[in-house]
Amino acid sequence: MQAEILSVGTELLLGEITDTNAQYISARLREIGVSVYRRETIGDNRSRLTGAFREALSRASLVIATGGLGPTGDDVTAECLAAALDLPLEFHEGAWEDMLEWFRLRGRTPATADRKQAMIIRGGIPFRNKNGTAPGQAILTDGKLACVLPGPPREMIPMFEEHLVPLIRSTFTDLVPLYIKNLKLSGIPESKVGEAIRDLMDSANPTVAPYAGRGQIRIRIAARHTDPAESRKMVDQAADEVKRRLSDYIYGEDEDTLESVVGEIMARRGLSIAVAESVTGGFLSHRLTNVPGSSRYFKMGVVAYSPAIKATCLGVPDEALRKDEAVNAETAVSMASGVRALAGAKIGVATTGFAGPTGGTENEPVGTVYVAVADEDGTEVERYVYTGSRTDIKEYGAGRALYVLWRRLMKSRRSPQGPKEGTVK
Ligand code: ATP
Repeated sequence: MQAEILSVGTELLLGEITDTNAQYISARLREIGVSVYRRETIGDNRSRLTGAFREALSRASLVIATGGLGPTGDDVTAECLAAALDLPLEFHEGAWEDMLEWFRLRGRTPATADRKQAMIIRGGIPFRNKNGTAPGQAILTDGKLACVLPGPPREMIPMFEEHLVPLIRSTFTDLVPLYIKNLKLSGIPESKVGEAIRDLMDSANPTVAPYAGRGQIRIRIAARHTDPAESRKMVDQAADEVKRRLSDYIYGEDEDTLESVVGEIMARRGLSIAVAESVTGGFLSHRLTNVPGSSRYFKMGVVAYSPAIKATCLGVPDEALRKDEAVNAETAVSMASGVRALAGAKIGVATTGFAGPTGGTENEPVGTVYVAVADEDGTEVERYVYTGSRTDIKEYGAGRALYVLWRRLMKSRRSPQGPKEGTVK
């Protein structure tokens, strides 16, 4: 079964926006067992777009277009699909009612031009748009499924998942989907992951592939088999082998994030946390509090930027503050212990460093980040030197702090005594 994707919009051709819709749809179609044979970008032009639909429908069984569904005159996608199929567009009461409801909930009234968006191809199925006004639509003719979805990804993606994926599955019943599991890693460079799983990466089914990004690595394991139970078994076996080799770094699977995983552990064990941030400037608190329900364990976050605040609020000794402009292990440890005591929390985490682009000292260059954790078993501190922009370094530092916290929580589970005081790595 072949599919083609049409991305509609002159701004795509002008290079003003990046076509993330086609990328998303391609990846998801692959997962559900559909092969994408061709992708095309077309401007908002009636004759070229109608021609593109005709050609795509002559080759493929599934054609998906995104963009050009709005109320303005240059939004012509539905009209062009109708022309390519030689079918009329008709006003659809149900689609219009859904749009009126959308306007009503926002205290707005539709303009006359908005009625255009409720025009559905005869015999077509409208897709309700939860995040905007323009409905999508699909039409099945001669065993071929053609559909148009809105351009904005926040409208397109939910509509694709909720309406189109079930329709594709019920229309083309012989699809063999990929079964996929992602393992999430932190605290290890991509090259080391590559070394550890090189032999597994040679396998064609299941495939095992690492993807690195912003201080994290995802290992994607995917298998395709006509029997879904068999696909799952193949993936699980490969995942178990990867876990056996890299268990110290795998913090979760699929939708897990470091913050959701540490949050879940802290909530389960009745632990609480307080954070003192210098170099990460609040980024660590932001990530921890992104997790729904984080108020169960997150007590306080302090952005302690000036030496005076580090001293008065957190009790960092003068001597530590003077050394390398407060970028050193002792400052990080005092900040972690200080914020832990201040908040009365079980765990204190702290960061200090140089985000750059200028500054640093002879001992501690720009990019240096110290991360410290303090808990009832003692303290732990680590030093890293990152490269990148100021925001990169803040982001990497926060990610590393979450990794160090996760590792400590895992260690304290494994050893009854917990880690020892003053472990400096
Ligand atoms: P609207 O009702 O908002 O006009 P539309 O369906 O008519 O939606 P377009 O006008 O084509 O969509 O695009 C609206 C916006 O959606 C674009 O400015 C862009 O931000 C985003 N967009 C459109 N197509 C794509 C695409 N292929 N990939 C990523 N973003 C896109």
